[in-house]
Amino acid sequence: MVTEQLQPRHIHNKRVLTAMASIPRHLFVAPDMQAQAYDDVALPIAEGQTISQPYIVALMAAALQLHGDERVLEIGTGSGYAAAVLALLAAEVITIERHRALAVSAAQLLDQLGYATVAVIEGDGSLGWPPDAPYDAISVPAGAPDVPPILLDQLADGGRLVIPVGPPEEQRLLRIVRQGARFIRDDLGPVRFVPLIGAAGWTHDHRPEQHDPR
Ligand code: SAM
Repeated sequence: MVTEQLQPRHIHNKRVLTAMASIPRHLFVAPDMQAQAYDDVALPIAEGQTISQPYIVALMAAALQLHGDERVLEIGTGSGYAAAVLALLAAEVITIERHRALAVSAAQLLDQLGYATVAVIEGDGSLGWPPDAPYDAISVPAGAPDVPPILLDQLADGGRLVIPVGPPEEQRLLRIVRQGARFIRDDLGPVRFVPLIGAAGWTHDHRPEQHDPR
């Protein structure tokens, strides 16, 4: 996965590559999906959601520019895989999932695997998680109609928000860096994620039945 998918696609961040090489991704998917766990695709998980394609996990993790001492908020725990990656890159990870079944199973798996610095919270993360703000980095692996201003408010000075923004069929992956009262944006390219559903996201799932999201 690392040498055939990530490095050829210009993921050069050594900490991200090392983290992803060490995490047993097959444990984050259902038993009948394990043979495909390291393939270059998103895979279905429970509740009609997905574990993101490895390249996209790596791209987002690298874009967060983590050095090891950060507090990170992830919005969309899903399987818990990306939270495990973030746990190896930062000091503390708070991850929120709106589907109770996913939050429970991810929390159990992360606990079993010893990721003690990850806290899984069940709820609507489109509003962030004010009790632990500000965050050095916020990762949103779900497509939002717009950048929720409340997430910008929860960024520390110098903090990075990585979020896909745009219509359900295709979004642009944005990185927004806070510099005091200014927010500097750059566009990391086209992506296709499952929707961010909640008070500052979509009101419901607009996806067509046939889809191939990341
Ligand atoms: N990071 C995950 C992983 O490694 O498996 C993949 C995330 S999946 C692409 C997006 C997740 O975001 C889904 O599990 C979905 O239920 C969740 N989600 C969507 N809207 C949400 C919200 N408002 N708050 C929390 N989770 C949300």
